[in-house]
Amino acid sequence: MDVFNFDFYQRLQKDYLEHKSLFVAFDYDNTIFDYHNHGINYDRIISLLRTCKSLGFTMILFTGNEGEKLETIKSDLKTRNIPFDLINENPLMPTRKPYYNILLDDRAGLKEAYNNLKKLTDAIRNKEI
Ligand SMILES: [Mg+2]
Repeated sequence: MDVFNFDFYQRLQKDYLEHKSLFVAFDYDNTIFDYHNHGINYDRIISLLRTCKSLGFTMILFTGNEGEKLETIKSDLKTRNIPFDLINENPLMPTRKPYYNILLDDRAGLKEAYNNLKKLTDAIRNKEI
């Protein structure tokens, strides 16, 4: 099978059904925060992150920001009620590659990831799976 015919939604659904949870990683700049001030509205992403948390998923912020900037980001997440459980941590193993079932990142197929995760959370909430 060609890689582009692989059904990533089916894999995500399988991950969920096996563990009844997911590790959802998300980026900050230009994914939930308008870093370049382009007037982009990130509400749909943020709403999906809240839905994921309400379903008991583990939320992991992956960002290149550190130090004082990271503290500002934490405050921003709390102010905007954006859930996170871990920051720049691998939840399963002590390796440098981040682990997640799905990643929301403006540099990594954000639209496809959003659509797959939204489809899954809709199905869970509608008790279709
Ligand atoms: Mg980014």
